[in-house]
Amino acid sequence: MQYFIRYRHLNCMIDPRIEWFDVWSCACNGECPVCGMKDIEPVEWTVMDER
Ligand SMILES: [Zn+2]
Repeated sequence: MQYFIRYRHLNCMIDPRIEWFDVWSCACNGECPVCGMKDIEPVEWTVMDER
């Protein structure tokens, strides 16, 4: 099972409207791609059923 996860880093110092997507095997926290901040909580996620 895979999770398609949307993240957003509110008040990011580099890009305050940054949003990104990631695919993980769990709905885990992400890392901001522009400022490197860790433990960003998912905004929402979708379970992708393969096949
Ligand atoms: Zn950031």
